Amino acid sequence: MNSKANDPKLKSWIDVKSESDFPIQNIPFGLYSDNKVSHHACTAIGEFIIDLYELQRHDFLDALAIPDNFLNADSLNDLIGMGKITTNGLRERLSELLQHNNFELQDNTDLHFLIIKKQSDVKMLLPVHIGDYTDFYSSIDHATNVGTMFRDPANALLPNWKHLPVGYHGRASSICVSGHSFHRPKGQTLPAGDTQPVFGASKLLDFELETGFIIGKSTKMGESVTTEKADDHIFGMVLFNDWSARDIQTWEYVPLGPFLAKNFASTMSPWIVTLEALSPFRTKGYVQEPKVLPYLQYSGEKNIDINLEVIIKTENNDENTVCQSNYKYMYWTMEQQLAHHTVNGCNINVGDMMASGTISGPLPTEYGSMLELSWRGTKPLKMKDGTERKFINDKDSVIMRGYCKKDNLRIGFGNCEAKVLPAT
Ligand code: MN
Repeated sequence: MNSKANDPKLKSWIDVKSESDFPIQNIPFGLYSDNKVSHHACTAIGEFIIDLYELQRHDFLDALAIPDNFLNADSLNDLIGMGKITTNGLRERLSELLQHNNFELQDNTDLHFLIIKKQSDVKMLLPVHIGDYTDFYSSIDHATNVGTMFRDPANALLPNWKHLPVGYHGRASSICVSGHSFHRPKGQTLPAGDTQPVFGASKLLDFELETGFIIGKSTKMGESVTTEKADDHIFGMVLFNDWSARDIQTWEYVPLGPFLAKNFASTMSPWIVTLEALSPFRTKGYVQEPKVLPYLQYSGEKNIDINLEVIIKTENNDENTVCQSNYKYMYWTMEQQLAHHTVNGCNINVGDMMASGTISGPLPTEYGSMLELSWRGTKPLKMKDGTERKFINDKDSVIMRGYCKKDNLRIGFGNCEAKVLPAT
């Protein structure tokens, strides 16, 4: 995936601060609204967005032959569905228009108010219509921690774990874009030592630090995607918080897995960072031993070095970093997840979301959930305001951030943030 837009030497005529998630080498895709625009496709550069519908209307994107109504639709699905020849071409064209030595848009200052807007002046929308959402369980450190806590430290991983990427079908309707809030879920729980369940607000509300990938190319029922071809079907990645009510989960999950403990809300970051922008940060993953079945084998470096962090923002706006992990710790890669998901002929559609599962690293500061960070509530975390957290309190916000960094190039995702309100 050699892309001119990835050249670390490129510079833009738009000011980009060195710690920005959105240098000219990123060019992610999103959907925004403001008081004049109900939904236009956009990209991000520095602290600004670039309106792709207006670029198109003013003939900057003519060579790509994208229908106008794909850029002011209420999702990016149709645009993404045109395929990587078009979307990579669009990313390259946007890179060209934003380079310091290109004057097409730079000198067309009359149009700047329509096309270039401050991110702080617009509202980001859920970028895709998500038909189906799948959540995996692919971090070996996370699965080992949970197995150790709830079952048996000597046999923390169940017998299937190293042979297939365990997953379940989640709920797409309650996936929200960063910036939302939701009420603490209510449900059935079984108090410790009791035999009869009670109904009430969850007491053990948790985050799960995850990433998600968005399907960019559909398949028909009966078709399978190989690990080798998987990247053709993966449009890009987002940060993802798979909120979980641990007390509801513990009581309900046997034998069919997560249900109401997970489907009340999930949060995703608004910018889809393309697989192509992430390609310079590919790296090796854990050695898979025992060897996996042929349909799950792959060649090359398929993990990605993405620094991930979780911040609990308390009511007084203190930001407490509680976890620093990395996507490279994934045992199962996206390519393997997709090969497994489709090996039985299950069809996938443009806009589908596949989440990684909680991404923990080997160190206790790298655990991707409060369940692990507080070790089931036995080791509370101290906040800057002196309070303690075993799980997430009402009025807390959880912020996830992620970025790749190599030499002087930093490619980031923007915030994935949501606030917990008291139960209704
Ligand atoms: Mn999850």
